[in-house]
Amino acid sequence: MLAEQIFALGLGLTPPWKVMSQRLDTDHTPTKLHLEIGADRGALYPCPECGAACKAHDFKEFTWRHLNFFQHHCYLTARLPRINCPEHGIRRVAAPWAREGSRFTLLFEQVVMSLVREMPVNAVARHVEVTDTRLWRIVHHYVAKAITALNLKSLKAIGLDETASKRGHNYITVFIDLDRADKPVIFATSGKGKECLTQFCAFIEAHKGRPENIVEVVCDMSPAFLSAVEQKFKSASVTVDWFHVVQLFTKAVDDVRKLEARQSKLPDHTRWARYWNPCAEHWPALKGICRESFIVGIPCTPMRGSKGSMACSRQRGPEPGDTGTWRILSPWST
Ligand SMILES: [Zn+2]
Repeated sequence: MLAEQIFALGLGLTPPWKVMSQRLDTDHTPTKLHLEIGADRGALYPCPECGAACKAHDFKEFTWRHLNFFQHHCYLTARLPRINCPEHGIRRVAAPWAREGSRFTLLFEQVVMSLVREMPVNAVARHVEVTDTRLWRIVHHYVAKAITALNLKSLKAIGLDETASKRGHNYITVFIDLDRADKPVIFATSGKGKECLTQFCAFIEAHKGRPENIVEVVCDMSPAFLSAVEQKFKSASVTVDWFHVVQLFTKAVDDVRKLEARQSKLPDHTRWARYWNPCAEHWPALKGICRESFIVGIPCTPMRGSKGSMACSRQRGPEPGDTGTWRILSPWST
């Protein structure tokens, strides 16, 4: 089998397309494999509108970056024809290996999108040796396509929270659909507070959803969030998520511990005994503060009781994912 035939098989080319020639350029670093794709003279091409086989009207050359060939960069070059369809007139034929307007093949873009889910775009740019600006164009295209296809008609339960996007006070607020097990994030915007809720409402309405259909909102205790939720989602019940309840509870207990520690000698490891699994080495400290009637011991018992599945089932304190767990276990969620 000729090298051109092997490359054509590898690329999955179908008639009229085939690999006309191949050339490995070793004069540059990184070295480049160039594959020229074309068709026989007089070949017919499908009209992009109706699929009718048409003759070529004229040609224009394009080049696409493809997946590496071993350690070498690989580029596909083809002269794409414009056809003259009797029904639709002169149209550029689409390359089956790339989307219109992109200078990367579909397979290259697929790999990029897989990588940017796992690491920063800058890191991917270094890995594939393409500028991050060009990669961001790919990301923006597919993210916009996915968002356009988002249908929020059945949206009725949401969770929202803000997080710092960089050091300092640059926040983003993220919204999730609590009924989606897979890819629950449906909206994210810069900032925090009421304005984010306003933007989210507009987003819902632009994707076939209705703010009045929202019956359940899980958020933190931010007054800005709570008042905005009350105003924007009039049918919704608000639940303060388990993570923030435990966070607040834990801080309050720790404040009491600090106050009490100034007056009395507490057992060793008291600070950590409130977090760790009772089977661990801190169990004696927990028993000590409860048995000796320290004030800080009072909240420890309920915290480790029925609602304390968080504390007992995890090695440390609350984790961001606790909201979902708590909701599923709650009788109210049924
Ligand atoms: Zn046509």
